[in-house]
Amino acid sequence: MGMSTDFAADVIVIGSGAGGGFVATALAEAGKSVLLLERGQWFDYTKDFPARYPDWQSRASAFRLGSFFSDPTIAFHKGPAISNKDFDLCSRQNINKLQKYKHRGSFNYHRVFGVGGTTLHYQGEAHRFPDHAFDMKDRYGFGINWPLSYEDLAPYYARAEKWLGVAGDPANPFKATRGPYPTPAHDLSTKTQWVKRGSDKLGWSLLPNSLVMPSESYDGRSPCRYTGMCIKGCPFGAKSSVDLAILPRGLKTGNLKILDKTRVLELETASDGSIIGVIYLQGGEKKRVTADRYVLSTGAIETPRLLLASQSGFYPNGVGNQHDRVGRNLMETIFSVLTLEADRPVQAWKGQPIDSRIWDFNSPGYGNNRNGFVLGVSSSMSVYTGPLSYARHITGTGKAHKDAVRKKFGRIVNLFGIAEHGPDENNRVTLSDKKDKQGMPKVIVNSDYNERDKRTLREMINKLALLAEATEPAKIMNLFSTYNSPQTTHLAGTCMMGNDPEQSVVDGNGKVHGVKNLYIADASILPGQGMGDSPSLTIQALALRIADKMN
Ligand SMILES: Cc1cc2nc3c(=O)[nH]c(=O)nc-3n(C[C@H](O)[C@H](O)[C@H](O)COP(=O)(O)OP(=O)(O)OC[C@H]3O[C@@H](n4cnc5c(N)ncnc54)[C@H](O)[C@@H]3O)c2cc1C
Ligand code: SF4
Repeated sequence: MGMSTDFAADVIVIGSGAGGGFVATALAEAGKSVLLLERGQWFDYTKDFPARYPDWQSRASAFRLGSFFSDPTIAFHKGPAISNKDFDLCSRQNINKLQKYKHRGSFNYHRVFGVGGTTLHYQGEAHRFPDHAFDMKDRYGFGINWPLSYEDLAPYYARAEKWLGVAGDPANPFKATRGPYPTPAHDLSTKTQWVKRGSDKLGWSLLPNSLVMPSESYDGRSPCRYTGMCIKGCPFGAKSSVDLAILPRGLKTGNLKILDKTRVLELETASDGSIIGVIYLQGGEKKRVTADRYVLSTGAIETPRLLLASQSGFYPNGVGNQHDRVGRNLMETIFSVLTLEADRPVQAWKGQPIDSRIWDFNSPGYGNNRNGFVLGVSSSMSVYTGPLSYARHITGTGKAHKDAVRKKFGRIVNLFGIAEHGPDENNRVTLSDKKDKQGMPKVIVNSDYNERDKRTLREMINKLALLAEATEPAKIMNLFSTYNSPQTTHLAGTCMMGNDPEQSVVDGNGKVHGVKNLYIADASILPGQGMGDSPSLTIQALALRIADKMN
């Protein structure tokens, strides 16, 4: 096809985020030659992130350019209708006034193109999923059983935590018994201690979160300094994002080569269905590269997009899609935030963005047939962060405005909940006939909540209201809900793992069913969402296990 063929490697890994960075590093440490192709650029925390500068509040995020604004992956698509009986699940600017939405909004996908992927921007929660999340169908009669158990993954969780220097407290009665974390748990921030009074009154357990923000110097990096800026990129290099904590290990072996600003457009297949190369775009030029084996780690939207778009005589409907499973069972983030004004100054800006969680509800309820969810306290989930944001969002002028900003600054706190979204094969990613700037088809995301998902969200919102009342704030301000406004941070499921090739895309070792040299290691293979826990540590532990099984 008139294209030069570059390097050959034992393994090509595509995408350097939570999954790709781990699988590439583990393979390189095991002696394989690995070529890692990454669409985005390297970032340098000493100069690229807004929090390095005095005008940080008005600086654009380093991650927006080239991500969801200038390169929309997802074709705009109006969501399903919202019925009158479900208005209580929708966002409300004023907590006392129901807002009547006609339909769900278009799908908004948050992720980063960059070396380290979305871990550059994430909030560093590092959760082992509870053991009951792995065999949901057997235990509760809904959801999907994983092809492996918590015990199978436990040693890989421990290895991932060690690589990341996770800080945490092992005493969590809602999780499997475990050993100490690599670094001790952080103290709770002032705002979280304020909410803890409410949680204690209700008899709930507000516990310190486990975070990839070491509480002591780790691997020569600074410990966390409590700025709450993780989403904009850590200005001290303290957050263990994959570019800082993992890829340097792989590069040290001499076996790993990373090409950044390199976008893979297509997987090439041979007449027997094996993968024989990838076509990529770099500096405006199309090139080809080959290896013995390939690992796809481009995330839960890009991975099905690449598979579906790679069509050939052998795979007329896309690679690995012989049974029409690629793109199905998309699990969104069921997420809700209640914003409060505290009755006292609580230094809301200070501390990690999510330093605590309440796991009391992380088992599905048998009687009321709902899914598991987890609550938490956050400084980063509303428009109120630094002083400028308070000044912008508090109405008024002149002295009265200044007085109001001074009084409220540091008092606005968010309570939030995240729930498991039940897998449903009709919630799916398909290719659009619209193309992006580089000629790749955009995707259409069709996704909705079933009645159990709605019951779960309703109960979660009710629990947030109880917690708010028990905390006795000066004011409950507003409610945000992903029911009317899908904002996905914790995606899963579009290339699900399973034993049955007719119901899943990869097996329990991450190998694509029916394709002898293709693996997937990213969020798309998760058969569930850990009942509201954050997914990256599980993606990373699975990536380490997949690398082991490839050896
Ligand atoms: C605001 C926010 C907060 C979050 N907080 C947490 C948290 O606290 N804890 C947690 O566990 N999770 C959190 N998450 C979720 C977490 O970041 C993701 O689940 C995780 O990063 C997914 O890993 P991945 O490997 O599937 O994809 P990613 O980490 O997104 O990596 C995919 C990589 O593939 C690259 N890529 C894409 N297409 C191509 C292509 N065609 N060619 C080459 N490269 C390509 C991308 O540039 C990217 O680097 C958060 C997410 C967001 C948005
Ligand atoms: S809270 Fe800690 S890890 Fe997050 S940006 Fe601040 S110093 Fe970095």
